[in-house]
Amino acid sequence: MAAEVLARAGASVTVYEQMPSMGRKFLIAGRGGLNITHSEPLEQFLTRYGDKSAALGPSVSAFPPAAVEAWCEDLSQKSFVGSSGRVFPLGFRATELLRSWLAGLEGLGVRLLTSHRWLGWDRATGALLVAANEKNSDQVEPQQLFPDITVMSLGGGSWQRTGSDGRWVPKFQEIGINVHKLRPANSGFLVDWTAEFISKFEGMPLKNVSVQARGNPVPGEIVLGETVRGEMMISAEGIEGGCVYAVGRELRAACDAQGNTTMMIDLRPDLSREQVEQRLNTARPKESTSTLLRRTVGLPAVAIGLLREATKNVLPRQASDMAELIKSLPLQVLATEELDRAISTAGGVAFEELDHRFMLLRRPGVFVAGEMIDWEAPTGGYLLQATLSTAVAAANGALSWWEEEHPTEM
Ligand SMILES: Cc1cc2nc3c(=O)[nH]c(=O)nc-3n(C[C@H](O)[C@H](O)[C@H](O)COP(=O)(O)OP(=O)(O)OC[C@H]3O[C@@H](n4cnc5c(N)ncnc54)[C@H](O)[C@@H]3O)c2cc1C
Repeated sequence: MAAEVLARAGASVTVYEQMPSMGRKFLIAGRGGLNITHSEPLEQFLTRYGDKSAALGPSVSAFPPAAVEAWCEDLSQKSFVGSSGRVFPLGFRATELLRSWLAGLEGLGVRLLTSHRWLGWDRATGALLVAANEKNSDQVEPQQLFPDITVMSLGGGSWQRTGSDGRWVPKFQEIGINVHKLRPANSGFLVDWTAEFISKFEGMPLKNVSVQARGNPVPGEIVLGETVRGEMMISAEGIEGGCVYAVGRELRAACDAQGNTTMMIDLRPDLSREQVEQRLNTARPKESTSTLLRRTVGLPAVAIGLLREATKNVLPRQASDMAELIKSLPLQVLATEELDRAISTAGGVAFEELDHRFMLLRRPGVFVAGEMIDWEAPTGGYLLQATLSTAVAAANGALSWWEEEHPTEM
């Protein structure tokens, strides 16, 4: 996107990509339906970036969701709003979009050099070191490049096979740039399941539940986070899925602070605790607990399994206690899953290292964009939106910086 903005402004642009083809993570993002942005009002949209809302606000407002949709349409992919408010290209996938995007860039004269890896800055000259990468680019003599403007968009640290390997981090740190540790975001969490539970329920979805992170910031004090409704999935290692990702930031912080944390699950968010209790009080003689839970409250086997897992198979006898457990089931989570499996990355270049144009204060003329900057957001189109918006802002920032530095050359 930065290349597009720069090329349209008349710059001569070369994109260096270390992988043999462009946009591999973009293609992966399109596998389950490319969610390019979200249709909610901008004010609400910006809150999704949490404590980075103010830092991202100007770039996302300048290139907002409507601009992403228009850009998509320019690439012959009209977009549509799904039932959840998420926005997708009509083709749903990234393949067509990427194909026309790359063709458009080449039409603008952008040179796309794949299998070219940036290795860092030359200590003596400050040049960008780029190697045409056979297998071991570290051992190939690099070219020294002195472009007028550099925009870096090197990605986070998950799904390394797409090229987002985070190997740029030490190169930035070497020149004193503060890069916050790359951490998993929109990731699953580890749970110490019993062998019996996981043998029955691995891969099973738990639909229409609501979840809350529970933190203990001060011993004895319990703080419940935002309640999020959705679906989660039982994996061999733990839990994953939309509603887990949505409370992931809080769960991760609590795990960091305490070593582990508890997630509260409401297995029947449509019913009040009293309604659940009333229904449980209609038990028939000789009815098994599982049948009672299924018949009266409609719990699927996996939810009943979770109740047994949480109580070490000693389910409450009283309807009131059982109702309480169904509405507020504690599940201990131990840590995030490994970074490589996460959908996105938290951490990255600290905002205090950047000026308002996304230029590195320690490297005038070098701008950064996308997931390599320290922000995070839930799934829902917020990731691609901020990536594209920061790329537009970095490219426009680069053009205005160049103009200021070389007033007679534009
Ligand atoms: C499974 C999955 C599903 C997703 N679904 C969605 C979705 O539906 N909606 C959404 O908004 N977001 C989604 N995302 C997230 C979205 O794909 C990313 O936020 C986005 O791709 C980030 O763009 P980026 O340009 O910052 O980084 P990346 O897309 O990671 O691109 C960085 C590029 O830099 C290259 N690179 C890195 N280091 C070097 C180097 N030293 N030299 C040369 N090249 C280098 C890499 O090879 C890579 O191609 C999904 C992610 C995953 C993993």
